[in-house]
Amino acid sequence: MRILVTGAAGFIGSCYVRSLLTGAHPGCEDVHVTVLDKLTYAGNPENLWPVAGNPRHTFVRGDVTDGELLAGLVPGHDVVVNFAAETHVDRSITGAGAFVTTNVLGTQRLLQAALEAGVRTFVHVSTDEVYGSVAEGSWDEDAPLEPNSPYAASKAGADLLCRAYHRTYGLDVRVTRCSNNYGPYQYPEKVIPLFVTNLIDGLPVPLYGDGRNVREWLHVDDHCRAVQLVVDKGAAGEVYNVGGGVELTNLELTERLLATFGAGWEMVERVADRPGHDLRYSVDSGKIRAIGYEPRVDFDEGLEGVVRWYRDNEAWWRPLKERAARRTARPEETGGGR
Ligand code: NAD
Repeated sequence: MRILVTGAAGFIGSCYVRSLLTGAHPGCEDVHVTVLDKLTYAGNPENLWPVAGNPRHTFVRGDVTDGELLAGLVPGHDVVVNFAAETHVDRSITGAGAFVTTNVLGTQRLLQAALEAGVRTFVHVSTDEVYGSVAEGSWDEDAPLEPNSPYAASKAGADLLCRAYHRTYGLDVRVTRCSNNYGPYQYPEKVIPLFVTNLIDGLPVPLYGDGRNVREWLHVDDHCRAVQLVVDKGAAGEVYNVGGGVELTNLELTERLLATFGAGWEMVERVADRPGHDLRYSVDSGKIRAIGYEPRVDFDEGLEGVVRWYRDNEAWWRPLKERAARRTARPEETGGGR
């Protein structure tokens, strides 16, 4: 079987490819993986170094919006798994354009290329953020899409295109909507790696607003198992929520990270809340559990492992933080800042 994985130089896609090529998914021992990634600021070839020499792995640098490239690349693949996206909510607030281009147009171009190439199954990796905030209970897959950030809106647009390509053209498209992931190799602008790397350096951590926002956490390994389960056992045209089951306010998460470092609340710097900041996300994972999904990684152990990984892999994250700091100091390098 040949699988095309887009965005696999990023956090979750690279975990999926490493797991595919290191025997984590029974039945995938002979799979050949093509990675397509643009290598934006969030894409890092080092994330794939552990499998770089694997003969069942090919890396292609390119853009999912490049229809000509896709027309040449997609044929011959049985499955497409689409992780490629602009993913940072804060960046979507200061510059939504790139999110619409990659997340909406890129997904449509990929769907079209998959349709024309006769790809058997297309799995689109989406997010719980498309549902918007839920005060109580959990969203199931039939809940309305009420995204509140440009990031979430662009992901919702992509989800609807997936639905349309299934309904209109009969393409076997399956969508996953996962809660917040944590794990190694996550770019240090996201809350857990940002806080961990700041605390390693003895720097304060920036906490949004009153810190009462609730997120549901899932280890990236469990997310990748869920994606493979949907490839293997999902049904065409269906959406699957993937929840972690561990709900924490940002205050609680911060408390745990501070405790890990033996630090106190004096290390917390309160910052103005993010505009449109959703109070709570929570998904009902009953549908994917019915086909065999069960998260395995205990949150406390998983978080401890992540802290250890960032302590042990400073050479991976420090250059990324230094580069980001230089960009902030010279905004003209990013065209005025993303
Ligand atoms: P990431 O930002 O770490 O990685 C995104 C990758 O996509 C990068 O390697 C980047 O270079 C690549 N990319 C961006 N634009 C591209 C383009 N135009 N063409 C080709 N490649 C491009 O993101 P992540 O956290 O690994 O998220 C992966 C997917 O999972 C995304 O679709 C995201 O919406 C979804 N998701 C993430 C989370 C989370 O907590 N991180 C939760 C649920 C869903």
